[in-house]
Amino acid sequence: MRLVRFRFGDRIATGVVEGDAVRALAGTFFENPVPSGEEIPLDDVRLLAPILPSKVVCLGRNYAAHAAEFGGEVPEEPLVFLKPSTSVSGPGDPIPLPSISNRVDYEGELAVVIGRIARNVRAEETFRYILGYTCGNDVTLRDLQKKDDQWARAKGFDGSCPLGPWVETELDPIDVHLETRVNGEVRQSASTSDMVFGVATIIEFVTEFMTLLPGDVIMTGTPEGVGKLEPGDKVEVAVDGIGVLMNPVGGRA
Ligand code: ZN
Repeated sequence: MRLVRFRFGDRIATGVVEGDAVRALAGTFFENPVPSGEEIPLDDVRLLAPILPSKVVCLGRNYAAHAAEFGGEVPEEPLVFLKPSTSVSGPGDPIPLPSISNRVDYEGELAVVIGRIARNVRAEETFRYILGYTCGNDVTLRDLQKKDDQWARAKGFDGSCPLGPWVETELDPIDVHLETRVNGEVRQSASTSDMVFGVATIIEFVTEFMTLLPGDVIMTGTPEGVGKLEPGDKVEVAVDGIGVLMNPVGGRA
């Protein structure tokens, strides 16, 4: 199932994508989502961020080749940081270029969406807590990430977490291809099998100290090939089995 949030006229609703149409949901994603029957052509709606998390939990240096491109080792245990709820944006939303930075980078990532309250979840039980998967872009102010010990501004600024286009509930995340393209040119290309810590291990690790709520998102880290965005660029994060998240890069803000 492809779960979406969308705007249609004045209304914001949730739905399921079926072919070229969206069928609106009567309830939420989390309580047995049942399409209500109303069918709207996909072209007539504007897709929004598919989920509004209370927090986005991110993994640093979770692909060895990416850790190496910054001269770093992979961490011994998952390296975790947060992006706030206000960093989330949706497909097609412009990525801002904040005036506080001269180097705004894309980071294409597989994003996990939590479906149930999760605390102290063992790795082998994690599948019961996952609603699905979407594409994410962990947009980063690279110059400020290097300058600051903590990354609240480098990775937490408004619009720094585009998500979408939908939550795919059927994906097996073990070995899917992830690609980031800028203006159609491939910049990142990897398999999720190259992750240092897989999805189940990450959820077990995180829920040992932090409760994950329905809708919370885990960004599983970016592969090698990160790079700078310029005004007017179009950046796409494509994950096989999910789809393509496209965001234009706005002007300086
Ligand atoms: Zn990242």
